Amino acid sequence: MFKALVLNQEEKKTIAAIQQVEESQLPEGDVLIDVDYSSLNFKDGLAITGKGKIVRQFPMVPGIDLSGTVTESSDDRYKAGDKVVLTGWGVGEGHWGGMAEKARLKADWLVPQPEGLSGKQAMMIGTAGLTAMLCVQALVDAGIKPEHGEVLVTGASGGVGSVAVTLLSQLGYQVAAVTGRAEANGELLKQLGAARIIERSEFEEPSRPLEKQIWAGAVDTVGSKVLAKVLAQVDYNGAVAACGLAGGFDLPTTVMPFILRNVSLLGVDSVMCPFEKRQQAWKRLNELLPASFYEQACREVQLEEVAECAEAITNGQITGRVVIKL
Ligand code: NDP
Repeated sequence: MFKALVLNQEEKKTIAAIQQVEESQLPEGDVLIDVDYSSLNFKDGLAITGKGKIVRQFPMVPGIDLSGTVTESSDDRYKAGDKVVLTGWGVGEGHWGGMAEKARLKADWLVPQPEGLSGKQAMMIGTAGLTAMLCVQALVDAGIKPEHGEVLVTGASGGVGSVAVTLLSQLGYQVAAVTGRAEANGELLKQLGAARIIERSEFEEPSRPLEKQIWAGAVDTVGSKVLAKVLAQVDYNGAVAACGLAGGFDLPTTVMPFILRNVSLLGVDSVMCPFEKRQQAWKRLNELLPASFYEQACREVQLEEVAECAEAITNGQITGRVVIKL
């Protein structure tokens, strides 16, 4: 028997409870893992509170991320004792996830614990950090260079946002951080590397099709009217990496930034990201994130505290990254 956070549905409401479950209840897979850490992402918040249609069948163990130690493996790539990391692949949505002391997963979904990172640090990064890295890489690949001007990050005090601010600053970009919590988080964002802080309300005004050109590029975690405003303010030849919908999944924009300013809108997904690209992103995360990131932007909670944190993340009240000790 082992401890797990289990989601059930009663009268269309999601109920989260800590339960003792048996190993035989775990779903099929090639690799059995003793989970050391999981983490809390926006998607986990939606799943646990039931505010988003994330879970595809009940009962479900949430947790789209985990790090741990292999105890059994029928796949040649992994053996007992190996340290592994999982993010995405629909785990915690359609397959029991990381918020349990044990997990059984497909070997294809795993990456070896990235060299230089502990399992806890890997979860401090988690899906949010991996996504931030993929966004930053998308801007670099689009030719956006530090000398081109300021780069914007929206939803800056969240998980993806705080890692994106840190990574861009480490790469030498001038970072402007958009936040709805400037008073509470402005100082932290500056410590992570933001050169200036901008109130989210400035981005919530309806956007004209084209506005004054301000940003060489942007990482957007918010979507909706905030992304529309960003697109209208991006420089000629600029690019925006869009990965999130914290403010809504609509996009009330026009084609003007694309056809008159050559702006690129770069879609970023980390869930189905192929193995090689994932491994490369983890390597870069280890190289780029300073020790101060883990100290300043992350905290650890127990499984018992997760339901409360899940409610908070869906209300935009979590700062940085939350790791869960199993
Ligand atoms: P967080 O909740 O940690 O961060 C989101 C941030 O967005 C908040 O901290 C807040 O920042 C801001 N925000 C929250 N609510 C609103 C709102 N109503 N309007 C505008 N801004 C808001 O979430 P994550 O960092 O885990 O995820 C961010 C987004 O990225 C989510 O939408 C998530 O689903 C998506 N995502 C996508 C992935 C992909 O593969 N494409 C992978 C990972 C995440 P502040 O207070 O500073 O304004």
